[in-house]
Amino acid sequence: MSSNKVRVRFAPSPTGWLHIGGLRTALYNYLFARHHGGDFVLRIEDTDQKRYVEGAEADIINSMKWAGMEYDEGPAKQGPFGPYRQSERSEMYAKYAKQLIEGGHAYYAFDTSEEIEEMRERLQKAGNSNPKYDAITRMGMTNSLTLSEDEVNERLKRGDDYVVRLKVPANETIHLDDMVRGHVKFESEGLDDQVLLKSDGLPTYHLANVVDDHEMQISHVIRGEEWLSSAPKHVLLYNYLGWEPPVMAHLPLIMSPAGGKLSKRKAEEQGIMVNVRDYMQAGYEPEALVNFLAYLGWSPGDDREIMSLDQLCKEFEMERVSKAGAVFNTKKLSWYNEQYMRERSVESLLPDVKAALEKADIEVKDDAHLAQIIPLLVERVSLVSEFADQGRFFFEAPAEYDEKSLKKAWKEETLSLVTNYLNRISELDEASFKAAALKETLEAVIAEAGVGFGKLMLPLRVAVTGSGSGPDLFLTMEILGKSETQSRISIAIERLS
Ligand code: GLU
Repeated sequence: MSSNKVRVRFAPSPTGWLHIGGLRTALYNYLFARHHGGDFVLRIEDTDQKRYVEGAEADIINSMKWAGMEYDEGPAKQGPFGPYRQSERSEMYAKYAKQLIEGGHAYYAFDTSEEIEEMRERLQKAGNSNPKYDAITRMGMTNSLTLSEDEVNERLKRGDDYVVRLKVPANETIHLDDMVRGHVKFESEGLDDQVLLKSDGLPTYHLANVVDDHEMQISHVIRGEEWLSSAPKHVLLYNYLGWEPPVMAHLPLIMSPAGGKLSKRKAEEQGIMVNVRDYMQAGYEPEALVNFLAYLGWSPGDDREIMSLDQLCKEFEMERVSKAGAVFNTKKLSWYNEQYMRERSVESLLPDVKAALEKADIEVKDDAHLAQIIPLLVERVSLVSEFADQGRFFFEAPAEYDEKSLKKAWKEETLSLVTNYLNRISELDEASFKAAALKETLEAVIAEAGVGFGKLMLPLRVAVTGSGSGPDLFLTMEILGKSETQSRISIAIERLS
């Protein structure tokens, strides 16, 4: 780290759509950078060509943009430390691999995969449950530590396939002070001689990651806990290259509500979407997902729950990130979405709701009409897309009635009550066909009949909306208008008597 400025990076590999765990990592980096007035870098770690997925980088950038996390440096954004795609930085890695070899901390290895497999099998038979290419086995393999210098040069000249491996020391304890996990110790025996440069000449994640974090002057490495086991290799690399390692922070795992790490399979079982694009498509409020993700592993230490991205930037402290895994609670996410959605004005919701309705084949002819409906439904849905299901009856007369509600609603005395109500409201002129009058009428009818509110309310609701629950019925009838309301009630009378 050659400057004191906070510089962090989000370093995804473009191997698929950005998932929510990735977005949380990006978010914590973003919050940390903004909190400290530092830089937030996006670096694409695309050295594994076999796992490269077309469109993944665009998806990552898109998702971050949607979530409101602008990066300061990265692809499509010039910066002093570019390029920001590892595939465009290859020469640099080879240079440092060479430096490591010259310093005696890495070596050429010429073994074929069959030879390595053979070594593993042999050791396994001899009772070693986790055989690997390491300080013990390397001296029995074909590499620049066991071959003569001439032979090595000859092989390199000939163009034999080789990889460069890290020479992990025997019996060394590697120390790491992690901002989240505290002091962590690793025994070098547990590590293998990591491949740093592959036979295609490209670096592995480990070498590229360390080189770039150094070259890009990254001050803090903030990433998921699944990378903690790689950290000791990185510490060795920093030491051997003579660089000061960045401060590290390994974020807690995201857990399934059913227990265990939230894997793709577990998420599916729980009906949890894992890709950010799915949340986008489902119509989630980006601020809601961001607020929710911020609290997956962090809290401000008091009972505040709603925090905008700006507020989060102010409040975020790495010291308050927990070590324990954070359970993905779908109910909580819905709750967050409701809060943010209800904060939006009708004007801002209107185009989104309209799109959601149209997606469900509901034609919206009149925006002003939709603007009346939105406030009635917004308290009843968790997601914009749910407006379609909840609000269909505003646009289409019920094709059928909810069986259960009907059973509960339609009794012997119902017919006369409903008919009576229909007759009374038919006397109202268009201009007085308003919620208050419609309610008064209902009260008059039940008072005369000497029955309770529900005796008329429920059957009317079923007749008008098809269902036993919904928004304020009087406002609903007002919005539907006189002739539509009359028609729905008469149809129900006909069909149900
Ligand atoms: N490329 C790694 C990933 O896909 C980056 C891990 C790190 O941040 O060091 O998550």
